[in-house]
Amino acid sequence: MPTYEYRCSSCGAEMEIFHSMTEDARTKCPECGEEALTRLISAGGAVLFKGSGFYETDYRSDSYKAGEKAAKKDSKPSDSSSKPSEPSSD
Ligand SMILES: [Zn+2]
Repeated sequence: MPTYEYRCSSCGAEMEIFHSMTEDARTKCPECGEEALTRLISAGGAVLFKGSGFYETDYRSDSYKAGEKAAKKDSKPSDSSSKPSEPSSD
């Protein structure tokens, strides 16, 4: 059963409530009895957030790798051409 985090906008209490996904979100605060509970983004929401983050990182690292490859390709000839000229000047 998923855990849902709730915060009471009336008394500020934060709590985790277990209930099934098919159940309606709880609204009554067990602390003060007010119908002021709001469900915080956690559990399922956090996974979704993490998932999109992973994709973003994946995307970035992929383009970064491509850039690194291009940079290596570009710096390789200039690196090898500058190396033999160094000992010869010595
Ligand atoms: Zn409350």
